[in-house]
Amino acid sequence: MAKNVYFFGNKKAEADASMKNLLGGKGANLAEMTNLGVPVPAGFTISTEMCLDYYKNGMKLSDELLADVKANIAKTEEAMGMKFNDPNDPLLFSVRSGARVSMPGMMDTVLNLGLNDITVQGLIKKSGNPRFAYDSYRRFINMYGDVVMGVHHEHFEEKISAMKKSRGVENDTDLSGDDLKQLVEEYKEVVKTHAGKSFPNDGFEQLVLAISAVFGSWNVPRAIKYRKLNGIDDSWGTAVNVQSMVYGNMGETSGTGVAFTRNPSDGENKFYGEFLMNAQGEDVVAGIRTPQEISELEKIMPNCYKELVDIYQNLELHYKDMQDMEFTIQEGILYMLQTRTGKRTAAAAVKMAVDMFAENLIDKETAIGRVTPEQLDMLLHPTIDPKAKLTVIATGLPASPGAAVGKCSFSADDAEERKANGESVILVRQETSPEDIGGMDAAEGILTARGGMTSHAAVVARGMGKCCVAGCAALDINEKAETVTIDGKVYGPSDSITLNGSAGEVILGEAPLITPEVSGDFGTFMSWTDEFKTMAIRTNADTPHDATVAREFGAEGIGLTRTEHMFFEGDRIKSVREMILAKDLDGRKVALAKLLPMQKGDFVGIFEAMDGLPVTIRLLDPPLHEFVPHTAEAQADMAKEMGMSAEEVRVRVDQLHEFNPMLGHRGCRLGITYPEIYDMQVEAIISAAVDIVKSGKAIVPEIMIPLIGTVAELKILKDNAIKVADSVIAAAGVKLDYLVGTMIEIPRAALIADQVAVEADFFSFGTNDLTQMAFGYSRDDAGVFLPEYVDQKILADDPFQSIDQEGVGMLVQYGVDRGRSTKPNLKIGVCGEHGGDPKSIEFFNRVGLNYVSCSPFRVPIARLAAAQAAIASKKKTKLDVSVGTITAKSKVNA
Ligand code: ADP
Ligand code: MG
Ligand code: MG
Repeated sequence: MAKNVYFFGNKKAEADASMKNLLGGKGANLAEMTNLGVPVPAGFTISTEMCLDYYKNGMKLSDELLADVKANIAKTEEAMGMKFNDPNDPLLFSVRSGARVSMPGMMDTVLNLGLNDITVQGLIKKSGNPRFAYDSYRRFINMYGDVVMGVHHEHFEEKISAMKKSRGVENDTDLSGDDLKQLVEEYKEVVKTHAGKSFPNDGFEQLVLAISAVFGSWNVPRAIKYRKLNGIDDSWGTAVNVQSMVYGNMGETSGTGVAFTRNPSDGENKFYGEFLMNAQGEDVVAGIRTPQEISELEKIMPNCYKELVDIYQNLELHYKDMQDMEFTIQEGILYMLQTRTGKRTAAAAVKMAVDMFAENLIDKETAIGRVTPEQLDMLLHPTIDPKAKLTVIATGLPASPGAAVGKCSFSADDAEERKANGESVILVRQETSPEDIGGMDAAEGILTARGGMTSHAAVVARGMGKCCVAGCAALDINEKAETVTIDGKVYGPSDSITLNGSAGEVILGEAPLITPEVSGDFGTFMSWTDEFKTMAIRTNADTPHDATVAREFGAEGIGLTRTEHMFFEGDRIKSVREMILAKDLDGRKVALAKLLPMQKGDFVGIFEAMDGLPVTIRLLDPPLHEFVPHTAEAQADMAKEMGMSAEEVRVRVDQLHEFNPMLGHRGCRLGITYPEIYDMQVEAIISAAVDIVKSGKAIVPEIMIPLIGTVAELKILKDNAIKVADSVIAAAGVKLDYLVGTMIEIPRAALIADQVAVEADFFSFGTNDLTQMAFGYSRDDAGVFLPEYVDQKILADDPFQSIDQEGVGMLVQYGVDRGRSTKPNLKIGVCGEHGGDPKSIEFFNRVGLNYVSCSPFRVPIARLAAAQAAIASKKKTKLDVSVGTITAKSKVNA
């Protein structure tokens, strides 16, 4: 039975790192560190289940939980040798939230809980340091007032700013004990004014309200928004960590800091972090004073530094992954307050995976799991062309790498709005806070005037894989007026800037960007994916250029060439229109004869680019009326060109009009009614292949017939294709193999796949049309209601982005199984948008497809997703074997 509360202290904890779901990440790791003998101040974790209970009980803590809390306070008191509420030597607590996964800055921590006018005297007595005691007290009232009592932080900020001003000092550390004592009184007044009640005196009452506030914070709007953006389940709840305080603000031998076992920005295996002396809590990340680099600590406190290095090395060895840690030094003694797996940029993730494998820290399977397919997307994003001449107008910290171009936006709301209107913006802020999360997501990049490498902006940007320049002191931002002044020059919302997050540079205007390559560590990492994946990755490419790019990214063939795209190139559209307008078969043949050499040339280019890899070419698919002009003016132009009357053109275009072209005269239906079109295309494909074979190279073209719903359609078109192909081959006198297969994109075709397979050399699921037809959603019109459907959780995902596994996926699975029931070795792939979606790829792997095909830039993502899917299914197979439930599925190879 799960307990309500778990104690940690005295080198022993009642939990460990495996219990993240119940204790949250922070709580589970505090327990784990305690068990490892790392110095962690004692405390206890209230489970995430209690958070759900809290909501069930009508936002109240149960009596049972309160009793458990009391019992654990007693345990903590014993471990620390101090007592809560003790007027002479009070034990104080921090109250910290912590969900299953970290949600940076979503739910604020309260420090120094347990202070009141009596215990503050005890703290003075014990420390002999009134300044420290009042500093702790004013911080407590501020944090508690803000987080628990809902008094906005800025009301406190006003008071401390006024105090600093009247004392003529810049930093809060320059305020005296008496100043801070006076500030405590002012803060209490602030609370009274804005909360309408006095600050609570009783320690236990303070604690109970703080715990409730943490549970309550799970459902504040910004937390909900963060969860939505990051796909975190609303039903997980948060745990609460109540922990003995240690003080980084006790003077010049105390301090607090944040550190990473490796550089989270570029992945370098070098201790990385920042600290501030005489500071507490979030001072380092809040950008109040500029923090010092972690290596400086060695000079200031060599012993502490040595111990910290020992601990970080042990933690990384133990967790076998990069750790992000928080520590506090109280009068020369080091305490660890948190460790977790550190967020990292895509580049850092790849480097760390490759390095940690080389260091024997992890195996290859683990390394492959260390980078998410979505992260790779970032690596495939552009960087600034190194040859470009740039005007750098300001320099800040290189907080998150990459490059971003956009117009200045000065608020999160504005950024979201302009993004929705299709604009690219850079969010320019003094500093960011959790309220800005939506705007940060909408912006191409983030630029802040304040804050360090571990500031909110930097951490969140790295997590989002967005470029960020932080702490750019040269910016003079006026958020109200929507201007930023740099070196006396004023920039507004219509000015474009470019950020270089790797160099920390702010560049005037729109800098030219270049596309990245798969080389170095990235290349090594990608080559590992090929050792594990069992599905092939092909690409959708219509031009030799696309084909070449995709091959460089590791494509193993083309899964879809759309011949109609070629029809629009240059002058060709003229011949296409001539063909469409022709009055009879002979007229069409004349026009088609003009198109033939052009199509053949295209195919030669693509075959050459793919150098022997398989190429699937789809015969004409869209309705003809997509190729003719629709305005009177354009029709008149066309008439002139074709030597016809405008009226004749209009009549023909009207004839082509369809009420629902997607379900109309398209795909194989064109091939049935105008066989000469498909004949021309097959002739072009085969004669191109003949040229390739004659030049001594290999090619097996795959001719693909779209949109079949009956076996008869396929049979007729296949026979036609074979007739044309064989006569071209015979005339050329060469040996050439080719395949004729079909798309499965009409639900009926999936349902009769066993019969279809008899006539098909291969299947390719067109999951875009299959989704459209299975749901009855028009792809071009669904944008109006689909977002709402996802919001209201009617659908888990947009089914055009990630395949609907239980519905459309069933059609795929059924089609695969039926198809292979009559043709066991039938080669089957996917060529819809879903071929580049990691979640869908996992599904396709599971149902036994031979390949997926996606756009060139998604090829590396698909390779990684396929490798991860294969590794996961291997693990699962092992598990199934060990519990004796496996029903071995036969593996069919590409
Ligand atoms: P987050 O979830 O944002 O990381 P934390 O609860 O870890 O929030 O921390 C808020 C700040 O308070 C951190 O700087 C942390 O180190 C500090 N802190 C938390 N608990 C204690 C404690 N027991 N003693 C001293 N400082 C603490
Ligand atoms: Mg915090
Ligand atoms: Mg923390």
